[in-house]
Amino acid sequence: MARIQLENITKKYKEKIAVNNLSLDIQDNEFFVLFGPAGAGKTTTLKVIAGIEFPQEGLIKIGSEIVNLIEPMHRNVSMVFENYALYPHLSVFDNIAFPLRSKLHRKDEDYIKTAIEKVIKTLNMHKVEGIYQRKPSQLSNGQRQRVAIGRCLVREPTVFLMDEPLAHLDAKLRHFMRGELKEMQSAFNTTTIYVTHDFMEAMSLADRIAVMNNGQIEQLGTSEQMYYTPINEFVARLFGEPEINIFPSELVSENGVVSLRALGQNVPLVPGADAQAALKTAGCTQIDVGIRGIDVMFSFDKKDDSSLAGTVFAFEPIGNKVIITVDVAGTHLRIAASNSTTARLDEPVYLKFNMKNALYFNGATQAFITRSGIEQYR
Ligand code: ADP
Ligand code: MG
Repeated sequence: MARIQLENITKKYKEKIAVNNLSLDIQDNEFFVLFGPAGAGKTTTLKVIAGIEFPQEGLIKIGSEIVNLIEPMHRNVSMVFENYALYPHLSVFDNIAFPLRSKLHRKDEDYIKTAIEKVIKTLNMHKVEGIYQRKPSQLSNGQRQRVAIGRCLVREPTVFLMDEPLAHLDAKLRHFMRGELKEMQSAFNTTTIYVTHDFMEAMSLADRIAVMNNGQIEQLGTSEQMYYTPINEFVARLFGEPEINIFPSELVSENGVVSLRALGQNVPLVPGADAQAALKTAGCTQIDVGIRGIDVMFSFDKKDDSSLAGTVFAFEPIGNKVIITVDVAGTHLRIAASNSTTARLDEPVYLKFNMKNALYFNGATQAFITRSGIEQYR
């Protein structure tokens, strides 16, 4: 177990800056998630911690010791990659035992047996028949990935790094393994940094998340903070399925009431009183409004004049729900509806937004301004 600190790390590959003046302070025993799009610098950050890559600038501390000049094998860091490689000719037992039999560790066979039994139990594989003697070819993809994790855990590393360990699994297995990982987590008992570009994985596993982009951290916080108070539109778009709707609006202040005109409609959008107060003092009139698909109510009948009018542009069942894309004056809004919903293309549809959950961004900078009930997310 150890605290991990990165101080002003910069890692360049020739002219390309992969990690840009990055600082992070990860707590002892924390399950920390690095989340962001491809090319953000996530893998490079892990490699710097593991000692596989050397930064041009900055300090790496593990348990308050500066490790910049310490060889990877002496850092006691374990790393699982997306493309796990088990030795195909070795049994599960021998695969997991491998690091313990290495020159560095040289554990005796009694120790190894006890350690492997413990790991197999942590991985919830102890009920798989003949598990110890199986070869990798006799395992499912999910089981193979668990053995790869086991091989890293068995060393009882101070730091456990996982680079998109589930990325290559199919959606169903990924979902299952996410649940399994969640259960294993408390038994890891080690500081873990987990890299993913899947927001569901990030949200369900993380104690804290760092959203990375262009070698830097956009936002650091809990799953709830990312989802309810994203620091900018970039982060807002990363969390949630379907992607949050963000559209421009014009702030209008009349008789002390603040409302927003948007989507070419005469229907004003009225923020909650607390959000109105914050918008008044924000100093900009171009406001980008963020509304998630679950916060759009819709009806195929026009009930009154307070709805926005649009037409069905696309209809997409995605298993447990359907995504209806509605064209409102040329802007496409995604709505999450129950999977019993049916809709015809081009059919008129009338929308109302749950403004209590709307997010407001500065239209010029895309920076977050406010939302209703913001205090509870601080
Ligand atoms: P991520 O894991 O978030 O997808 P990486 O850390 O792999 O991102 O890469 C960050 C940036 O650094 C990318 O632009 C990538 O192309 C570049 N990069 C990574 N590794 C190398 C390398 N060995 N040589 C040159 N450029 C690299
Ligand atoms: Mg990567």
